[in-house]
Amino acid sequence: MTDSKDQHPATLAARALGEVDEVTGAVIPPIHMATTLQRDENYEKRGGRQYIRDEGHAFDQPEALLAALEGGADAMLFSAGIAACTAAFQALAPGDHVIAPDVMYHGVARWLEEVGRHWGLEVDFIPAGDLKSMKAAVRPGHTRLVWIETPANPTWTVTDITAAADIAHEAGALLGVDSTVATPVHTTPIALGADIVAHSATKYLNGHSDVLAGAVVTARDDEFWQRIRRHRYLNGLLPGAFEAWLLLRGMRTLFVRVRQASGSALAVAEHFADHPCIERVLYPGLPDHPGHEIASRQMRDGFGAMLSMCIRGGAADAIRVAKACNIFLPATSLGGVESLIEHRHTSEPPGTGTPENLLRLSIGIEQTADLIADLEQALGGLED
Ligand SMILES: *Cc1c(COP(=O)(O)O)cnc(C)c1O
Repeated sequence: MTDSKDQHPATLAARALGEVDEVTGAVIPPIHMATTLQRDENYEKRGGRQYIRDEGHAFDQPEALLAALEGGADAMLFSAGIAACTAAFQALAPGDHVIAPDVMYHGVARWLEEVGRHWGLEVDFIPAGDLKSMKAAVRPGHTRLVWIETPANPTWTVTDITAAADIAHEAGALLGVDSTVATPVHTTPIALGADIVAHSATKYLNGHSDVLAGAVVTARDDEFWQRIRRHRYLNGLLPGAFEAWLLLRGMRTLFVRVRQASGSALAVAEHFADHPCIERVLYPGLPDHPGHEIASRQMRDGFGAMLSMCIRGGAADAIRVAKACNIFLPATSLGGVESLIEHRHTSEPPGTGTPENLLRLSIGIEQTADLIADLEQALGGLED
């Protein structure tokens, strides 16, 4: 048998690490819906487990697979991406200093402002991707966590993970990376120096827009990791068994979905880069994107399947384009097999700084030419 260490992550994902049910030979794991487990004849817990919160069998295989794909020591599933992203902050103590970017998934920024600060964290926001500002903002011995998201929503600003890890570590802090958009297909932040990697598993990891879940992966199983585990247990931030099962099923096709969608995203970005109705296309795969050079170094197999287009005109013109699409669905979220288009300014709370003429596109796995044709006809409406 080929040792799994020699297998490409795409193989590990497709086989979900190759586990087969010992009793039945089933190649897909069963779903155990039981919330409680009977003790054995010696009144001992069976396999050290007794209750579903934190000890459910349903998490074993998806967590082991995710740890393998990210090259981490361990992984934990959460009830949502936002619970996963904020878990590392909640393993800190009041008074600790943290740094986060000004361009990021707005829910995590809101959490830091409304909950994190209230709870005693000292939070500094810095310009996303700007390492000079990061260096100036860290307070050695006081900063405990530097958070980045790359590529970051919705401008796809790229942050140099290796350089950010060096800055964090020199100050005695940890580096956490929201890698939802990059996915383990394109980037494995732990290999570049990150300590904690978070995902909204609702997006690419599941990939079918039918599960709400999050995941955190750690470089080391240490005291900080155990505090995150305790936080998940005491706050009950776990998904259900069925969600965990669906997520494992989704992860089996992660590589084919993401490779197809990223290939189409590059084709769409290149096709519309010089379109007369478009001011600019924001995509790290385009040579004129400010993060292109770093992305070329730290992303492999493509640049991701998220891009944004700033439409010539204002908010009304952008919304007209979103409404005129037939294949792209006018909806929020990302990472599903179906392509979505969204006027971000309408969906985000006020003050995030997202341009009013920006449309965010989540490229799915439809035929590339159909996606380009749909956008062409939708943009054509602007010329009428
Ligand atoms: C959606 C998203 C989140 C939040 O995830 P939920 O599963 O919706 O809670 C966090 N980070 C990024 C980058 C996201 O896109």
